[in-house]
Amino acid sequence: MLPFIDLKAQYRRIEPEIRSRIDDVLKHGAFIMGPEVTELEQKLAQYCGVRHVISCSSGSDALLMPLLAWNIGPGDAVFVPTFTFFATAEMVALLGATPVFVDIDPVTFNMDPVALELAIKALAAKDPAIYPLPANYAALSPKAVIPVDLFGIAAEYEKIVPIAKAHNLLLLEDAAQAFGGKAGDKFVGNLGCDAAAFSFFPAKPLGCYGDGGAIATNSDELAEALKSIRVHGQGENKYQNIRIGVNGRMDTLQAAILLPKLAILDEEIAARQQVAAAYAGRLNAMANVIAPTVPTGRLSAWAQYSILLPRRDEVVPLMQQAGIPTNIYYPASLHQQKAFAYLGYADECFALTRDICARILSLPMHPYLSASDQDKICNALNQALNGQ
Ligand SMILES: *Cc1c(COP(=O)(O)O)cnc(C)c1O
Repeated sequence: MLPFIDLKAQYRRIEPEIRSRIDDVLKHGAFIMGPEVTELEQKLAQYCGVRHVISCSSGSDALLMPLLAWNIGPGDAVFVPTFTFFATAEMVALLGATPVFVDIDPVTFNMDPVALELAIKALAAKDPAIYPLPANYAALSPKAVIPVDLFGIAAEYEKIVPIAKAHNLLLLEDAAQAFGGKAGDKFVGNLGCDAAAFSFFPAKPLGCYGDGGAIATNSDELAEALKSIRVHGQGENKYQNIRIGVNGRMDTLQAAILLPKLAILDEEIAARQQVAAAYAGRLNAMANVIAPTVPTGRLSAWAQYSILLPRRDEVVPLMQQAGIPTNIYYPASLHQQKAFAYLGYADECFALTRDICARILSLPMHPYLSASDQDKICNALNQALNGQ
């Protein structure tokens, strides 16, 4: 079986750097908030061009912590896309606020700005005939929007930022899959939102060897609040607590591992563009396959290479038999998840998302994928599609 993401190839390339960085931490012993954490935060901020990066323990905490800083809670509506990893909406619900789902663009799979405006309008008018709303809509006031940069492509902030401003909504960019991506000359994390959340889960484009995350913001005030929230809402010192927070720190060891990985990220993102272009060349020759489209002016971090195809559920086991791993991101719209049944959305809502859920399939994607392995993958797909 080919690897879906080849982390070992990357390790072979930078093993001495990673080992020496880990060794430094073992020697100085500052396992919590050690010097590598500060170094990483500065380098991440420099990379994206933002004033502050606050590292934290996971991408999920990177979503939770800004919501906590903004006092998001019961009675607050937070608009989230239907088609994303569970955590985007889970963190909203965890705080007692209500996720309000917004359908996606069928090409980029990102939140559809037109649908967002409709959902905002429906909530203001308390009228689910305008757009599907959760059962408790009458009790909700709109507070925030969390667009997701799905699979590494920045959401449509050119349209979403003005919508959020017009309606006085806070904007949190879920950039968990997109570190290193760009829109125009600006990096993901610096696209006009109040804050952006990154995940450094091992399989993300920039990943550590465990859990890790970070929040980017240009707000000094939010940065201060996040530093406090990260350590149980601490005040001037450890034993003074001025708000409710979490234990949300990134381990020094994970920061040490991310530093040499960040140093090669540009080259890896460039390699991912080549892999994507090679896939497109092969897949565009297959009549039944729709290869991903990156909108003009955007640079995808290519967290996933996701295609649309007919009879997806028949293709998957045939690929498996041919030794080609695939994944389905995501098999269901969030409104269909059991955990969100209490929101009361009808199954028939969000037709675009449900259609994509039935047809999408992610192929192996990483910077070290060889042309011969891409041939194997595409040949296996071609045979699977022809029922062989
Ligand atoms: C991975 C991911 C998260 C959560 O990140 P963790 O580091 O696993 O907590 C959140 N949102 C999206 C879109 C993700 O892909």
